[in-house]
Amino acid sequence: MNAVRERNESSWLLPDDGRRTNHRLRDAMRRFDTDDEVDLVVVGAGAGGGVLTQRLARAGWRVVCLDAGPFWDPDRDWVSDERGSHGLYWTEPRQIGGDDPVPLGSNNSGRGVGGSMVHYAGYTPRFHPSDFETFTRDGVGADWPIDYADLKPYYAAIEAELPVSGQDWPWGDPHVYRYAPHPVSGNGLTFLKGARAAGIEARVGPVAIANGRFGNRPHCIYRGFCLQGCKVNAKASPLITHIPDALAHGAEIRPDSHVSRVLTDQHTGRVTGVSYFFEGREFRQRARAVAVAGYSIETPRLLLLSADSRHPDGLGNDFDQLGRYLMVQGAPQTAGRFDAEVRMYKAPPPEVSSEQFYETDPTKPYKRGWSIQTVSPLPITWAEHVTAQGHWGSVLREYMRDYVHWATLGSLCEFLPQARNRVTLAAEIDRHGLPVAHFSYSKCDNDKALMTAARESMEAILRAAGATEVMTIERYAHLVGGARMAARREDGVVDADHRVFGVPGLFVVDGSVLPTQGSANPALTIMALAARAADRLVAGARSGLAHEAVS
Ligand SMILES: Cc1cc2nc3c(=O)[nH]c(=O)nc-3n(C[C@H](O)[C@H](O)[C@H](O)COP(=O)(O)OP(=O)(O)OC[C@H]3O[C@@H](n4cnc5c(N)ncnc54)[C@H](O)[C@@H]3O)c2cc1C
Ligand code: SF4
Repeated sequence: MNAVRERNESSWLLPDDGRRTNHRLRDAMRRFDTDDEVDLVVVGAGAGGGVLTQRLARAGWRVVCLDAGPFWDPDRDWVSDERGSHGLYWTEPRQIGGDDPVPLGSNNSGRGVGGSMVHYAGYTPRFHPSDFETFTRDGVGADWPIDYADLKPYYAAIEAELPVSGQDWPWGDPHVYRYAPHPVSGNGLTFLKGARAAGIEARVGPVAIANGRFGNRPHCIYRGFCLQGCKVNAKASPLITHIPDALAHGAEIRPDSHVSRVLTDQHTGRVTGVSYFFEGREFRQRARAVAVAGYSIETPRLLLLSADSRHPDGLGNDFDQLGRYLMVQGAPQTAGRFDAEVRMYKAPPPEVSSEQFYETDPTKPYKRGWSIQTVSPLPITWAEHVTAQGHWGSVLREYMRDYVHWATLGSLCEFLPQARNRVTLAAEIDRHGLPVAHFSYSKCDNDKALMTAARESMEAILRAAGATEVMTIERYAHLVGGARMAARREDGVVDADHRVFGVPGLFVVDGSVLPTQGSANPALTIMALAARAADRLVAGARSGLAHEAVS
């Protein structure tokens, strides 16, 4: 009901059927010539790049946003099928290494307009105020050059635009959601029951899934394919929220365009545009400024590939900071077997969460914490969970037949930023002849302790709910960092206004800039940062400072 009442209050929502409007906007899209010097080129149309493009198009800037992947049409391109969704993922070659290599692909990043949010689960929690000063509070991680109060109004704005549904939120900075929580399925009910019995608080939400119709978008049909790209358009992603509005305000979205280099003027050091591959040919787009928003692996890679005579080690890398402090969250998942049928697939995977263990507990030997959420794997992912226990053959088949009796929870552990966890360029090249990214990752002792504690908490909840058997798989999720925000150029790649140190006209506006990650899913924070960055760019342009070098 809320959604119906508010459908005309968000003026940037399109009033008629979303699919027809999206097609019409794409057909009528403004197109710039590559020789036009546009105000801004954005590299990547995901969480950060999508919001930045929309905000600056609304501010009257001439913006071209290039994305390496397709301009998805949910009706035509997506299927409600795990195997059939493979094309949504970034499957270009990448190398992994370190003591604890992080598998890349489906679970980490997407390609195409909408970015990784096309196949993200849909959880949209805020970071806690403590996340912005973990070094001061807990002696680990890093302090951001901005604090929670700087982002708070942008969190509220993005929550209204997606929109986010959920119960009142007691953790971090307590806040409420304008849209009521969704009804809960067997998996969510199991979590709520087990948490209550174990003395742990859990709440429904927060999810960026419209509860009821919202503007031009239909309601959720609870079929559970959120991680395969929501064909229904009930789950928010920039593809259906901010990109259509960007088009309506004159931005150009150029899909299938892989940016190979940020171009700079060797005399002035200023950014002059980008070069990119489209259908096997290389083009250039001139621009007064460039914002890189290509995800935590591809953003540092592109800045490394853009080395010039002034910056022989890569743009923003004068102090050997580029690619460092890349983080993943430890994301163990625990399944519990129940005599009654649970049918965890019959709902969006994101339903219920707890942030009870988010903050540092002074009685424990480790710092920081973890969150717990429902995850609800579909059958292929369920098979991965079972085979990870070493089950094969007839035993594996028996577990697969038993699928409807299992409930599954996942944790997000706040793994700490470490300088040695970084992206560099490998000797291997991709189909464009560009060196691919090498991502080296090793856990520290604090990370390992958090993973164990998170596992124990999930097993306790499921057993308290009546599980007769539990099994846990250790995994990772959500890459952030690699071009982090810092007060001093010696400590990071961008300043508090997302300006790359030492390169006038260059910005990074995606998850790469995060100095810490909390144990919240990152997309809402990335979008809020992008909305704030847009305001800072507009204010800087008015003062004439936006494109000047920052040192
Ligand atoms: C399976 C899965 C589940 C997730 N679930 C959640 C969740 O529930 N909640 C949450 O908050 N987060 C979730 N995430 C994470 C979230 O989606 C990402 O953190 C977020 O989208 C990252 O935003 P970004 O702007 O940094 O990059 P992205 O959104 O990934 O956008 C980057 C874009 O840049 C493009 N690109 C890259 N390199 C180039 C280049 N050289 N030239 C042109 N374009 C380029 C890519 O094609 C891509 O479209 C999930 C992610 C995955 C994969
Ligand atoms: S469960 Fe709802 S949000 Fe998820 S894919 Fe289905 S309709 Fe979309």
